[in-house]
Amino acid sequence: MTSLENPLSNIGSSSDTGDTASNESSTVTNVLSFDLEHWYTATLIRDEVSAPTDRLEESVRVVRELLSAHDTRATFFVVGEVATEYPDVIRELAADGHEIATHGHTHTPLFDLTPNEFESELSDSADAIADAIGSRPVGFRAPNFSVTPKTQWAFDVLSESDLQYDSSVFPVRTPMYGVSSAPVRPYCVDSREPFSAGAYTGSDLVEFPLATFHPVLRIPTAGGFYARLQPTWLLKRGIRNLNRRGIPATLYFHPWEFNSEIATTEVSAHKRFISFRGSDTLGEKLEALLAAFEFGTVERVIENRGW
Ligand SMILES: [Zn+2]
Repeated sequence: MTSLENPLSNIGSSSDTGDTASNESSTVTNVLSFDLEHWYTATLIRDEVSAPTDRLEESVRVVRELLSAHDTRATFFVVGEVATEYPDVIRELAADGHEIATHGHTHTPLFDLTPNEFESELSDSADAIADAIGSRPVGFRAPNFSVTPKTQWAFDVLSESDLQYDSSVFPVRTPMYGVSSAPVRPYCVDSREPFSAGAYTGSDLVEFPLATFHPVLRIPTAGGFYARLQPTWLLKRGIRNLNRRGIPATLYFHPWEFNSEIATTEVSAHKRFISFRGSDTLGEKLEALLAAFEFGTVERVIENRGW
């Protein structure tokens, strides 16, 4: 495939040098994204938490301050119900220059939805976001990365709903999600073979897979639990492994992960470890990544290629 056939094949330009300098991969703009939901609706713990304290506004404030200190814009995948409940929070994010995309309306994984129900989730969340900021989202991320071969009908629903991109495919294998053979580079989705970057079909829907440590060694490094657990140098190496091949790293976090007040004793020790371990140092890690690499919204990465 040539770059003419696939305009995304050259996203960012490749750099094979500069292993140690800071800003070494500044020619590649990486994607920084946050999934904005209530901390207690995370799939792993949602059934175990009763009467939770709402921490959404304070968590978002922490993240907004961090991003504005580094003059960085991010994409926020917002749950529609959250946009309805906190329109001012969404407006402030948009006013800061961040992109508002959708994370579904009720934070239900696609495994538990029919195609029709998914279509309603998209339209309800788009309405809620439009009510808050006056424009409809063009991007989607599935709760729990639940776009897999089992739910690949989602791509047709996304296209029919006028979404321009998806960022739900985790090209790794885990017990809960993942498509281990999916591309690690953004690609145009052919709905007949949606996990293959084969022939460019002129499809309008672009997939931004979540970052792995290496195109071949597919350890997840994209964010969340993985970023909280891994040391900063390892996260940097993973981003560099992609950037030097011209591949933007798509990272994801949740604002509640930056709020170490949240760790609840209501859930089991195992789930607490996965959900909250490393929250106290995640802000420092993200700041180190923002200082070393270029980050922006999904929209900006697409626009840079003329999309
Ligand atoms: Zn989520």
